[in-house]
Amino acid sequence: MVDQEKIKEAVRLLLEGIGEDPGRIGLKDTPDRVARMWQELAAGYEQTAEEPLSRVFPVEGGEMVLEKDITFYSTCEHHLMPFYGKAHVAYVPDGRVVGLSKLARTVEVFARRLQIQEKMTGQIADAMMEYLAPKGVMVVLEAEHTCMTARGIKKPGSKTVTIATRGVFAENEALQTRFFQMLGK
Ligand code: ZN
Repeated sequence: MVDQEKIKEAVRLLLEGIGEDPGRIGLKDTPDRVARMWQELAAGYEQTAEEPLSRVFPVEGGEMVLEKDITFYSTCEHHLMPFYGKAHVAYVPDGRVVGLSKLARTVEVFARRLQIQEKMTGQIADAMMEYLAPKGVMVVLEAEHTCMTARGIKKPGSKTVTIATRGVFAENEALQTRFFQMLGK
């Protein structure tokens, strides 16, 4: 549970720190709004991927399942600024599959925390291996980091792409190629 009072106090201090007047009409409710927003942005700390990934169905055969273009929003732990984009999650089942919406739920569990993209990519892959236990997993995230695009070198639209492979995807380059073919890249 986030500590709403601490966040409100921090936002008031931040506003003062940048030379603003936290008491002026437009900012009066801002600490409260920001505190409520963080309730959602930090919701992942209270969740694990075990719940969505335990809803499994038996299947025969083991062709790759790819859920692509899962939109996510996360927060960069270095700057507390949003980074957002698409997650593409694939696995080769070992006798069981999960409902497709559960892959999006899994991405959400790890996005709703302070993150670095590289770590989040690996966490999704590791959670899939742990709870779904497929033959292999491949996760690709492409995201725009507003800490980069809103300041400094300012390259709007530039994307950071990260990849994690586990199991058969780590060993089998043809499977990785197939992933990108199915992705249409
Ligand atoms: Zn950053």
